[in-house]
Amino acid sequence: MDGQEMLERSARWITGEEPLAMNGLFSENAGGAAVVADGVVLIEAFSNVVAFDTDEGIVLFDVSHHMSAPQAISELRTWSDAPVHTAVYTHGHVDHVTGAQAFDAEAAKRGNKPIRYVGHEAIPDRFDRYQLTNGYNGWINMRQFRLPEPAWPSEFIYPELTYRTSTNLSIGGTGFDLRHARGETDDHTWAWVPDKRAICVGDLFIWQFPNAGNPQKVQRFAWDWAVSLREMAAMKPELLLPAHGPAVGGEDMVAEVLLNTATALESLHEQTLALMNSGARLNDVIHTVKLPQELADLPYLRPSYDEPEFVVRNIWRLYGGWYDGNPANLKPAADVALACETAALAGGADVLAARAEAIAEEGDLRLASHFAEMAVMADPDSARCHQVRAAVYDARRKVEASYMARGIYRSAAIDSKIRLKDL
Ligand SMILES: [Zn+2]
Repeated sequence: MDGQEMLERSARWITGEEPLAMNGLFSENAGGAAVVADGVVLIEAFSNVVAFDTDEGIVLFDVSHHMSAPQAISELRTWSDAPVHTAVYTHGHVDHVTGAQAFDAEAAKRGNKPIRYVGHEAIPDRFDRYQLTNGYNGWINMRQFRLPEPAWPSEFIYPELTYRTSTNLSIGGTGFDLRHARGETDDHTWAWVPDKRAICVGDLFIWQFPNAGNPQKVQRFAWDWAVSLREMAAMKPELLLPAHGPAVGGEDMVAEVLLNTATALESLHEQTLALMNSGARLNDVIHTVKLPQELADLPYLRPSYDEPEFVVRNIWRLYGGWYDGNPANLKPAADVALACETAALAGGADVLAARAEAIAEEGDLRLASHFAEMAVMADPDSARCHQVRAAVYDARRKVEASYMARGIYRSAAIDSKIRLKDL
């Protein structure tokens, strides 16, 4: 895509003149190397590769996923033949770092010097943790990204140069101020590039509600995230280069998305803390905290990937630990024991299933899910219970806004459908 066209379309998305079209973490019609400023290119992929031309070679922000890196490399080569000098990992998520092997292979094939990888000092710990939790991450990944089976990479190229709070790289006459921010991860880097008045934001802006809540992942940091967005805005950048979706151009446009995203996170943080400090239980908190409507209505804050309710849970977890304030949940009975007792009281698992179906028809899918789940636990061999459970979660995945929630409900429905084949 032409860089100028990309920036113009972004502006229309922000003002609402044109419907914002992100599909998961991609924008529609993604592809090609978009020259968004003199010597700066953004290649949309999973994740994006952002490239700066310097006198010593190319500086990259992120190297994309191992599946998308080969294509990103050919896009890069339509723009420049220079060797890649340095690649900064904006954070250690696999869609941002596992393309490194492909970039290394390309450098070796061209007879270039090895690429220097740079990132925050917590990235090596993340890669080590990925080895420890390879199986668990495979399951998460399967549910989140609708894969046919669990899959998670096990090979990572560790950064050669790490830093703690901030560092400045001067490469071929261009300065890159790298700043650490806890936000989506504990190892995030954003960069200020004064020569271009540009910021590389990694996943701190993704064209939809910040991914600060992801139900299946380790702690995320809503407040620190907001602080980093305000720090970025204070630089008065004219170009915002994200790791997903198109670039944003123009000082006012960039400031608007940064500051409104910060305000949204701050609002959830403030509301959640106020309730925690008043002694509320987690369940009350998640049913009470709401994003102010004027922010919820912004096209680039839609809960289409992650959602505010999940962010509230992460704020709770950060400050409050895992205890939710309900004493019955402190040392709970086995889920199956509770389900069997409830089924016995009701008159059988089928009665619970029928109730789940009726409640779902009335439209309360949250409540229906509890009964469907209990029905199956009370009688795991009942085809009827599995049919209802599959139907409830199928209905739910169709109405939920976030990719995260839809993925989990979809996978629950599939589990019951697979079980039904044996019944
Ligand atoms: Zn990402």
